Amino acid sequence: MNALNHPTDHIALVTAGRRLTWGTLWNESARLAHYVKRNAPDARHIGLYAANSAEYVIAVHAVLLLGKVLVPLNTRLTKSEIKTQLETADVDLLLVDETCDVPVPQLTLTMRDDEPISDFHAWKQDEVMSLMFTSGTTGRAKAVKQTYGNHVASAVAAREHLGYGTRDRMLVVTPLFHMSGLAQVYRAACFGSTLYVEPKFDAARTLDLITREHITHVSLVAVMLDRLLAIGLQRQALRVVLVGGGPVPKPLLEEAERRHIPVAQTYGMTETCSQVATLLPSEALDHLGSSGRAILPTRVRINPDGEIEVSGPTVTPGYYKQPEADAWTTDGFWRTGDLGTIQDGYLYVHDRRSDLIISGGENVYPAEIESVLRRCPGIEDAGVTGRLDATWGTVPVAYIVGSYDPLELERLLTEHLASYKHPKAFYSVRELPRNANGKLMRHRLKETAYDSTR
Ligand code: AMP
Ligand code: MG
Ligand code: MG
Repeated sequence: MNALNHPTDHIALVTAGRRLTWGTLWNESARLAHYVKRNAPDARHIGLYAANSAEYVIAVHAVLLLGKVLVPLNTRLTKSEIKTQLETADVDLLLVDETCDVPVPQLTLTMRDDEPISDFHAWKQDEVMSLMFTSGTTGRAKAVKQTYGNHVASAVAAREHLGYGTRDRMLVVTPLFHMSGLAQVYRAACFGSTLYVEPKFDAARTLDLITREHITHVSLVAVMLDRLLAIGLQRQALRVVLVGGGPVPKPLLEEAERRHIPVAQTYGMTETCSQVATLLPSEALDHLGSSGRAILPTRVRINPDGEIEVSGPTVTPGYYKQPEADAWTTDGFWRTGDLGTIQDGYLYVHDRRSDLIISGGENVYPAEIESVLRRCPGIEDAGVTGRLDATWGTVPVAYIVGSYDPLELERLLTEHLASYKHPKAFYSVRELPRNANGKLMRHRLKETAYDSTR
């Protein structure tokens, strides 16, 4: 996992403003590392607080060379959330693109010394390489310990299934501070692929890059794929369109299939350093709704409560300083907090345990209802959560973006869902609460901003 391993004149990194070879990437990283070492020799946990850019990737490599622990921080958080995370992860130095108003020493990530550091850290398998906060769809901030061995195992398993090599071009349009973005930086560094980094997802620019730069691999969430299809995405040189973070609606998969776009659905989490299971494009239509098979050597099973448990070399050793939050079983599996089933070896992920609605004793999965709602013409987006109810305990209610024909919706619901799954109220909202990766934060649907629309 080192920029030194690749031909110095091959292109390593491309952004709107820059095009760097592996030689330049290595040199810039080693000079930033020298600068950091000189100015903050005692720093151990280095926070990275910056937008996606070439400098961000250079900083990731610099921290790797220094042998320090990287703590990527979500730039969309409020000051007080950031302060909590800095304390939680014991960050003692921040690398920033713009000064951040928090009581932690900071260095600007564009700085360089003239000379590169010469003594690089040799990472061992179980050394903690990064502390990454989960994307926070459940509330409380937990820093996941990720070892060098976790990251390497994740990259190798991904190559096994998705084939990354020196001639491949990977496009990152999601934040580098989340797992799916950062994983691509490490994969490119392991296998010598060229990494394209966009500051944020812009459908037209993404389509243009895929076409013009012959992108082979891109990671998206379902809403991004939806927008790209709407503006005319075709297969081009794409070999893998990895879609994770949540289930991919069936009409999207079918449309992608019609255009021969190789969509690989994936299930993973920060606690497993990215992928747990992946559904290969060739299997997609035969196993609609599945996230595929466990990627070897990861093992997946369902416990008697219906919760998905995983074990393998990509699984975290635990949360930093919050061992009480660790989710180990006595026989070494990690409880994911997600509900699922396995049929013929294929994993189906239903919902977060905490999102599950139990209505009159029946399990109701918000994602299942949402996927039906989204099929209704005029509905652009939909989120479902539970509301307390005197009769049923909890009932599903829906938050909808867009305008639709209530009769048409009624017909769809009756055709596809048992009546206890029909939302008991529909609220019209301008947008749904999604995190930086585009993932729906269902617990926030219950908050006042959404209540006020009632
Ligand atoms: P994070 O907390 O950011 O690490 O996100 C991981 C969580 O995203 C998982 O625990 C799941 O709840 C959800 N997730 C990821 N992939 C899928 C998928 N294919 N289907 C449903 N949920 C998913
Ligand atoms: Mg999580
Ligand atoms: Mg999360």
